[in-house]
Amino acid sequence: MAESKALGKAVVIGAGIAGLLAARVLSDFYENVVIVERDTLPAEPVNRPGVPQSYHPHRVLPRGDMILGRYFPGYITDMLEMGADPSDEESVIIANRYGSFPIQPPKNTASSSRPLLEWVIRQRVQRVENIQFLSNTEVTGLITDDRGTVTGIYTRERNEQKTEGSVTADMVVDTAGRSSKAANWLEALGYQIPEPEILKVSLGYSTRYYKIPEPLHKEWRSILSDADPDKGVCSSYLFRIENNVAGSLLFSAGDEPYPSTDSDEHQEGLKHLAAAEVADITSQLEPIQAPRGYRVKESVRHHFERMDNWPAGLLVLGDAFCSFDPIYGQGMTVAAIEAETIGKCLQEQRSNPQPQFERRVLERMQRAVEPAWWLSSVSDLRWKGVEHSGTDTLKGVAFVHKFIDLFTKKATKLAIENNFSMYGTMFMMNSLILPPNEFFNAKVLAELLNDDGSEEEQQLRAELGESDPQKFQARIDELIPSFEGAYDGLLNPAAVTNAGGGFGS
Ligand SMILES: Cc1cc2nc3c(=O)[nH]c(=O)nc-3n(C[C@H](O)[C@H](O)[C@H](O)COP(=O)(O)OP(=O)(O)OC[C@H]3O[C@@H](n4cnc5c(N)ncnc54)[C@H](O)[C@@H]3O)c2cc1C
Repeated sequence: MAESKALGKAVVIGAGIAGLLAARVLSDFYENVVIVERDTLPAEPVNRPGVPQSYHPHRVLPRGDMILGRYFPGYITDMLEMGADPSDEESVIIANRYGSFPIQPPKNTASSSRPLLEWVIRQRVQRVENIQFLSNTEVTGLITDDRGTVTGIYTRERNEQKTEGSVTADMVVDTAGRSSKAANWLEALGYQIPEPEILKVSLGYSTRYYKIPEPLHKEWRSILSDADPDKGVCSSYLFRIENNVAGSLLFSAGDEPYPSTDSDEHQEGLKHLAAAEVADITSQLEPIQAPRGYRVKESVRHHFERMDNWPAGLLVLGDAFCSFDPIYGQGMTVAAIEAETIGKCLQEQRSNPQPQFERRVLERMQRAVEPAWWLSSVSDLRWKGVEHSGTDTLKGVAFVHKFIDLFTKKATKLAIENNFSMYGTMFMMNSLILPPNEFFNAKVLAELLNDDGSEEEQQLRAELGESDPQKFQARIDELIPSFEGAYDGLLNPAAVTNAGGGFGS
């Protein structure tokens, strides 16, 4: 793109997915972009200490795939060349407490480990002329001038001497993930940080990898098995990554005990899922090592945009801005949406400069984050013991639970009969493509409430508290956030149709 790259130098803290995306976006506007990363970046796709979650399965949602494809055209081909699993060749089983059915995943996508995905994107970023990497270097603080503008970062090399240094910058973008120190650094500079929203989620992962024996290569099917929090049933994901390696995941949250990382107990846990066949399949695989766990106490959504005095020269994105329960696979996609938002704001600023640029970017990103935060938090609140805190309230929790229950029941029945029209709609919302308001609306509600006499319908009616269909929309507007401005970035209808995969449109 780019006319003149007149904006000087940008520094990105962290070379995770958010950092790589941010650097790629900034490279269209800034003369130089430097990514400062505390890890030594590996020469091949392997786990590294700075991204401890990378051992566990990482899916890219269709909206994230669209954005990655725009900034890194053909990245899926690179992944396939590295042995990633092509989506076109397999179906995925979806299972929940109402039944199970196969779906076709979106075309031209691939499933891989997180290290492979990150490695492929990093290779692309390394080829961008005006982006440099400064690895093995930890960022320790922000440099500011007399007016409070952020003008660079302090660094400490991770060598024996722990050499200290600094890098000047016209823009610093913090993408240091969940361990970001942005809030602490700003507090140390005298800023008051608004109270973040916190979802006390106490979630646990247990992931085990296996070699898939030859006879199972061709008939492989991945399985997404939904949780049933009321009955303490775990979520599970049986998946394939590069080079015919499979993984099994057990997930629970709230007051439930963390899924076990003992090999026998993990296998036993796989027997008690909505998808009955998972344990049978894993018993035919060749375990590579014992399961490993990952635990997260909280998801955090910062509200930096509420600071009137937010410093010029600083942005925050990715998990450092808002982190999510990973089971919904949203984190990387939201990071991509945020990076895209920064690009759009820089473009607008170039043609029509406005004051308080950084704070306005944070406001736009906050709107873009809202659907993902709301969808995952509302869903997590089904687990006993999960709590939301902060000055904001989460709207519509009980109503959404009842609505989704009835919708899922009906959608599953249709999907088993090979009609994916309902399930596809829900998939598109969860892929962050379809705005929730187009899912939770009066028309869908009226179709759902067709007096089938089910317990789910009675519960939804009771929660709705309104029997006149003419008033349904007004009631829904009271219950569901408006999500205004959240879908600015979604401009390519052709890509959206592809993202629906084998589902009905
Ligand atoms: C168990 C688990 C499973 C997940 N599964 C999925 C999934 O299926 N799909 C999905 O989209 N998301 C998933 N996520 C979320 C996903 O990992 C993140 O949202 C995503 O990686 C974006 O993170 P990020 O780039 O902001 O941070 P990270 O990927 O965590 O990267 C932060 C980077 O900053 C570096 N860094 C930190 N501090 C400093 C410093 N002071 N100086 C220099 N460098 C620093 C780190 O070394 C690291 O490289 C999962 C998360 C977990 C915990």
